[in-house]
Amino acid sequence: MSETILELNGLCIGYNRAKILNNINFNAGRAEIVSILGPNGSGKTTLLKTIAGAIDPMGGKILLQDRNTQDIPLKDLSRKMAVVMQFEQAAHMTVEEYVMMGRLPFFKSFQFFETQKDRDMVDKYLELTDTLGLKDLPFNQISGGERQLVSIARALVQEPMLLLLDEPTSHLDIGHQKQILDLIHTLKEHLNISVVIVLHDLNLASEYSDTLVMIDAESRTVFAQGTSEKVMTKEIIQQVYHTDVLMMKHPITDRPAVFLSRQKKRIDKNQG
Ligand code: ADP
Repeated sequence: MSETILELNGLCIGYNRAKILNNINFNAGRAEIVSILGPNGSGKTTLLKTIAGAIDPMGGKILLQDRNTQDIPLKDLSRKMAVVMQFEQAAHMTVEEYVMMGRLPFFKSFQFFETQKDRDMVDKYLELTDTLGLKDLPFNQISGGERQLVSIARALVQEPMLLLLDEPTSHLDIGHQKQILDLIHTLKEHLNISVVIVLHDLNLASEYSDTLVMIDAESRTVFAQGTSEKVMTKEIIQQVYHTDVLMMKHPITDRPAVFLSRQKKRIDKNQG
C-alpha cells in the first residue's frame, strides 16, 4: 500500500446551511490518480473547492498526510497542494508572470521580486507542459488548451505533492484532452504527484485513473468507488446518470468503456 496523502473522513460540504454532499470518505495515495465523477450539479466542484480550502467543510475532516488541513497555515498548504480550477482568468499578464504567481508561497517576508531559482522553476514547468514558447505572450490571448497547460504549469511551480484539477479537459479537442491527461500521467509516474481530478468524460476517467469516485446526486454521497472495473458498470452508470448505456472493453487496455445508443424520441402528432 502506498502512503496516504489525502484522506477525506466523513466530509459534509455545502454553502451556508444548504448541504450539498454528506459523509464523503475516500483516500488518495502517493502518485495515485483519483477521478471524481457524477452528474452535473451533483457537487463535484464544491467538493474540490472544499478540499482546496476555499470553502469550509460543514462536518468531517480533510487530512493531508494525517494533518487536518484546517490546522495547516495557508502558506504551508499551498506548498503541498495546488489547484487548477475551471475558467482561470488573468488579464494583462504575460504567461511567464501568470506562472510566476504560483511561486508566491515561496517568497520570503519582504521579498518583492523573484529570484533566479523562481525563474528557473517557471522555465522548467513551462517546458514540461510544452508551453515555453508562449512565455512572453499575454495569458488572455492564448488558446483554451494552452491556457489549461499554462495553468497546470502555474500549479506545478508550487512543487505540490497533491494536485487538484476541475474538469481540465472540458471544451478541449481530443488532441488537447490527450495532451493534458498524458501530462497528468507523467506527473504521477515521474514526479510522484497525487492527483484528484474532476472529469465528466467517463471513458477518459476509466483509462487514466487508478481510482474512480462516483458521486450520486440523489443520495448526495459517494455511490461507488474503486478501480474502473468496479465502478464503470452498466448498473452503476445507469443508476447514477438515469441513462441507458452499453458497456464494452477498450481494445488495448481492457478497461471498461461506455457507449450511448441513439433512441428515437416519440412526438405526439396531435400535440400543438
Ligand atoms: P458539479 O461540479 O457536480 O456540476 P457543483 O459543485 O458546481 O456541481 O454544484 C453543486 C450544487 O451546489 C448545485 O446545486 C449548485 O447550484 C450549488 N452551488 C454551486 N455554487 C454555489 C454557490 N456559490 N452558492 C450556493 N450554491 C452553489
